[in-house]
Amino acid sequence: MTLDATIAANLAAIRSRIADAARRAGRRPEDVRLVAVSKTFGPDHVRAAWAASQRDFGENKVQEALQKLEATADIEIRWHLIGHLQSNKARKAATAFAAIHSVDSMDLLRRIDEAAVEQQASPDVLIQVDLAGEETKHGVPEADVASIVQAALSCRAARLCGLMLLPPWFDDAEQARPYFARLRRLRDRLVADGVPAAHLADLSMGMSHDFEVAIQEGATLVRIGTAIFGKRTVRT
Ligand SMILES: *Cc1c(COP(=O)(O)O)cnc(C)c1O
Repeated sequence: MTLDATIAANLAAIRSRIADAARRAGRRPEDVRLVAVSKTFGPDHVRAAWAASQRDFGENKVQEALQKLEATADIEIRWHLIGHLQSNKARKAATAFAAIHSVDSMDLLRRIDEAAVEQQASPDVLIQVDLAGEETKHGVPEADVASIVQAALSCRAARLCGLMLLPPWFDDAEQARPYFARLRRLRDRLVADGVPAAHLADLSMGMSHDFEVAIQEGATLVRIGTAIFGKRTVRT
């Protein structure tokens, strides 16, 4: 099969699994958005997915993403930053990405918002939450989420739209379920405490091997790379 045909077939299979998982959970398939994670793959892969009607793409590194943005500037894409963002790249990220899933500090939030105001951008932002206390991972500890959410609500240009989670790796996706459920409950608690629900509507959680479980637990954004583009040969 050609690259285009392979990616189109993979996308069709994933879309149908997303729809099935949503229906099984009593949710509407259209309430789950697929972010195709194109990290390490080139513009040809992005174009192939685009040709199969994929419009949301995820990248985990700003520099790599900017090159791909430039190489695909002729097509309409919503780019999502899903990887750790260093403060000194906040300026660039604020205009390049429609959504930044990985906001994990007050300082970063402020820098994104300032850059967005200056450049008249209005990126969606999600707060990345660390529920496992893993030292190797980024994210705001659960106890600090409420205060960064409050800060995000008073941003002038960045628009808070939800929470993001990257749980510990388990071969068995069922083991990630308690983390997905905790993120949803955390969101529900924040809303019960007065955060406008529209600002926490999104839960970005679920990857190639566990997205169905994440959808059962309320994911609205699933970030899927391998199952669409194949195995990455470059470490990220
Ligand atoms: C790479 C990556 C993904 C996609 O992972 P796959 O297993 O390839 O689907 C999702 N989220 C984040 C944060 C990533 O870095």
